[in-house]
Amino acid sequence: MHLAEMAVLRAVPAAGVFLALTRRCPLSCAHCSTESAMDGAEHAERPFRRLVASFTRQERPEFIAMSGGEALLRPRLVRDLADSARLSGTRSYLLSGLYFARDGHAVPAALRAAISAVDHFAVSLDRFHEREVGRRAAFRVLHEIRSWGPRVSVQITGDGGADPYVADLVREVREEFADEVPMLVVPLRRVGRAKALDGPRAGPETPHATPAPCEMAAWPLVTYDGTVLTCCNDDLAAAARPPHLVLGHADQDPWPVLRRRHLERPLARAVRMFGPRYAKARFGSDAAAPGYCDVCVTLHRDRGLGERVAGYLDSPAGPAMEGAVRGLLERHGPYGFARRHGIARYSELVTLGWEGRER
Ligand code: SF4
Ligand code: SF4
Repeated sequence: MHLAEMAVLRAVPAAGVFLALTRRCPLSCAHCSTESAMDGAEHAERPFRRLVASFTRQERPEFIAMSGGEALLRPRLVRDLADSARLSGTRSYLLSGLYFARDGHAVPAALRAAISAVDHFAVSLDRFHEREVGRRAAFRVLHEIRSWGPRVSVQITGDGGADPYVADLVREVREEFADEVPMLVVPLRRVGRAKALDGPRAGPETPHATPAPCEMAAWPLVTYDGTVLTCCNDDLAAAARPPHLVLGHADQDPWPVLRRRHLERPLARAVRMFGPRYAKARFGSDAAAPGYCDVCVTLHRDRGLGERVAGYLDSPAGPAMEGAVRGLLERHGPYGFARRHGIARYSELVTLGWEGRER
């Protein structure tokens, strides 16, 4: 499965679901958005297994996207989830920091089995990761993984279109893999450990009178403990968990139930359609709070907001507006998400090596 196939559906609500399998990681990247470490939280496997087992041919996401922490600290779980998802037609994606590439040894058999089971294997590579795992070691393992079957990609974090480190890394990846390995290049965001670094806050800082749909509310996230959230912002997962963004728990609620809540809840729909600041300004009290996500996590406290949004969504204008916003978000195919959430200059790299590129 090519990275572009996921990018095409990234703005489609519930087309995918993120699974944060652990908060443990052997690496200590300075920009880690999940603040993962070897003493991080790790909970039971059961919620993840139950959720994926609840997929049916008729009701399932197109993709599961597994990450952590380092998901490959649970290789058996990764393999089983990929196999289980495939039974219903769902494809799997795995993001890793390649901790096992550090020492130059052969990839352990359990990790090889897990990686071979997924449809797409993505590796994080940037100036922070390179202090932990060298570029040449990462390339060597990626060559090896490509020979096992899964399609691969590189996820790069940088300081914007003018960052010379990113330009150099992109050039090397293109040369090393003869333009067959796609890349998603994203800006450093000040979340998790990166709060201590310079960089923009998560979420667009638009005037509240301007609609700014939130695509982070498109695919739900199953957090480390099995709680399922509308929002895939890891920072939120770790902290606020406001009730209007909590969909349920993977140990109790099957996918069809969680999906219905995700698609039908008025506040989630308003955040996807207008973004939180505009939704609050239009349907609630004026958006006085400064931050995009800061407003979002307090929407439930705005009395009557949910009812007014529901009234709008029940009127003919609501679904028409929802459809129009969806059309705008999806019109650039795989490039749209990479342009809006990545560094626009590198958005074309998401389709490197994709047979569907010319379509
Ligand atoms: S590899 Fe990923 S999860 Fe691990 S410390 Fe680095 S950024 Fe965090
Ligand atoms: S606006 Fe809300 S849904 Fe979107 S990323 Fe922020 S907290 Fe999550």
